[in-house]
Amino acid sequence: MKKLEQLYEGKAKKVFATDDPSIVMVDYKDDATAFNGLKKGTIEGKGVINNRMTNFLMKMLEKNGVPTHFVEEISDRETLVKRVTIVPLEVIVRNVAAGSLSKRLGLPEGTPLRRTVLEYCYKNDELGDPMVNEYHIAAMGWADDATMKQIAAYALKVNDLLVRYFRPLNIDLIDFKLEFGHTADGTLVLADEISPDTCRFWDSKTHEKLDKDRFRRDLGGVEEAYQEISHRLMGE
Ligand code: UDP
Repeated sequence: MKKLEQLYEGKAKKVFATDDPSIVMVDYKDDATAFNGLKKGTIEGKGVINNRMTNFLMKMLEKNGVPTHFVEEISDRETLVKRVTIVPLEVIVRNVAAGSLSKRLGLPEGTPLRRTVLEYCYKNDELGDPMVNEYHIAAMGWADDATMKQIAAYALKVNDLLVRYFRPLNIDLIDFKLEFGHTADGTLVLADEISPDTCRFWDSKTHEKLDKDRFRRDLGGVEEAYQEISHRLMGE
């Protein structure tokens, strides 16, 4: 498949057209941003790790009944995925309080939640991805009720599968963000990435942070944290 013109450049990835109109190529960068683009930097080798790890996990999820956009890994940084229309929502899944939830509700980071919490944010950089609920989503027409029901069911299933996958690796999955899209034939699939950029991973024993919070909060050892997750998950 030929890599054609660039369609889009995001904060962490570029997207290219291919000679198949139903397939695009994602190219993962080492660029890192935080706080809605206010903080910028580079995490050496991140693109390779996020590409490999996302594909590894998407394949595991697909095998377990979650449809994804994954088609084929082309290189260390490049992957073919189904072209989708993204539902303009960040779907956040939380098992333990951290980050913005801790701030909003005054909960110490690390407080376990009695049950899994789902949150939705409207994907809009200018507005800083504001949190919305299902009434806003229906009122604005961002997704219909059937789609939201399916998104919630998939998000909880992904959480179950990931928590169970990471537990024996001594990694606690604190929270993460998912994105979904519709293919041309209307099928809802999991899209975007699953990586230390989009998940909070804590070492089960030491509670050390092994994710992008090391970059966001200037904790040092950023590259090492990404490598540690990659090593535990894929032996790489
Ligand atoms: N997250 C993300 N992209 C975003 C916002 C959040 O991938 O634009 C992920 C983040 O890495 C964390 C989870 O979603 O795993 C919950 O993030 P939170 O709402 O606590 O926001 P943050 O504290 O990261 O600003």
